[in-house]
Amino acid sequence: MNYKAQRGTFDILPEEEGIWNKVQQTCFETARLFGYRYIETPIFEESGLFERTVGEDTDIVEKEMYSFDDKGGDNISLRPENTAGVCRAFIENGLHNTTLPSRLFYYGPMFRYERPQSGRYRQFHQFGIECIGDDSPDVDFEVIKIAWDILSNLNFNNVLLNVNSLGDSKDRFIYTEELKKYFSKYINDLPKVDKLRFERSPLRILDSKEDITIKISEEAPKTLDFISSESLGHHENLILNLEELRSHDKKFNYKINNRLVRGLDYYNKTVFEYTSDSLGPQGVLLGGGRYDPLIKILGGQDTPAVGFAMGIERVVNELKKNIDVEKNYVDAVIIVTDENLRIESVQIANNLRNSNIRTIIAPKKSIKAQMRFANNINSKSAVFIGKNELENQKLSVKLLQTKSEQFEIDIDDMNQLKKILNS
Ligand code: ATP
Ligand code: MG
Repeated sequence: MNYKAQRGTFDILPEEEGIWNKVQQTCFETARLFGYRYIETPIFEESGLFERTVGEDTDIVEKEMYSFDDKGGDNISLRPENTAGVCRAFIENGLHNTTLPSRLFYYGPMFRYERPQSGRYRQFHQFGIECIGDDSPDVDFEVIKIAWDILSNLNFNNVLLNVNSLGDSKDRFIYTEELKKYFSKYINDLPKVDKLRFERSPLRILDSKEDITIKISEEAPKTLDFISSESLGHHENLILNLEELRSHDKKFNYKINNRLVRGLDYYNKTVFEYTSDSLGPQGVLLGGGRYDPLIKILGGQDTPAVGFAMGIERVVNELKKNIDVEKNYVDAVIIVTDENLRIESVQIANNLRNSNIRTIIAPKKSIKAQMRFANNINSKSAVFIGKNELENQKLSVKLLQTKSEQFEIDIDDMNQLKKILNS
């Protein structure tokens, strides 16, 4: 029986570790520069948490959740996203009693039962930011800027920020009525999925991936024409900040995207996405927005919040187009030229590792085969241990990647080798 990874899941292999680490580190370091702190919540939660926050009519809750009854009879879901979990943790751990806003970031696997395609998996990773407890557009900008700094630290060139404002829930009600009026004219042209959306959550028609719907939506009423003056002021303030950023960072660019409504129920006011020039889902690198009502919906005190979630696979896939995978992972292979010296070679390997030199002892084979091994794994050097070497208290070293230079070092001075390997 040959087992295979489940559809929509994949393995991260050793040579990809470097790129994954780089992305994760860039995310963490950038977030920390803005005073954000790490939070980790469990991978599974009571299903109700997601039904209540993400929304029962959303694709995520309707079709994509991995839900099951556990042995105690509780209905559990693997988290499809982490904002709900972070907000649950915020309330449960009394974080509203700490100095607000809480600036939090998370990283980890999420699970959605989706139709797998490029950039869409069933287990994927998100890095995310949540700033909880400040309703100012300045923190909307802060969160958007963190995302920009991460992408620009990773040398992304062609990304575009899309922004829109959904207003508050009252604005949304009025706007939804307008949308219904508009789409009712085209109801017979809409594909089945969007007819259903028309009945249940008309706003989400704008989020449709169907070509006909996208065409029809071009002339649809715009949220910005319907939001309250307070929401509009908030939006304009954010735009001022974005203009300022664009004026001194030539690589940054944004557009107001009237069709951007985002898939989840809990957003209000600012919503945004960063897109690359790749087509389809792969092109949407991250999405976020303000979700002021959420904490109260979950039984907490009324606490405004804003955040984003970045799809790590999508970022990694883009980077892979330009960065070679890391091939060098060993600095020294010990070639044991006298089989009686295996024990001594273990000790020498130890000394090398204590000097931070990544070391493997070659497999017990002929000297020629040991050398072949060192070359095949791209080791930076071969370190020879034999009777002569031990007698003279010297090690012969051969550099394998530069012009096969050969030299000797003192057996108790590994730093000598370290310096040469790093130069
Ligand atoms: P989409 O419109 O692509 O379905 P979404 O609205 O479902 O996206 P969010 O829930 O906002 O996405 O998730 C935030 C980010 O997480 C996305 O922008 C994307 O980068 C990533 N993401 C979402 N779903 C997946 C998935 N199935 N596989 C890989 N990454 C994903
Ligand atoms: Mg989705």
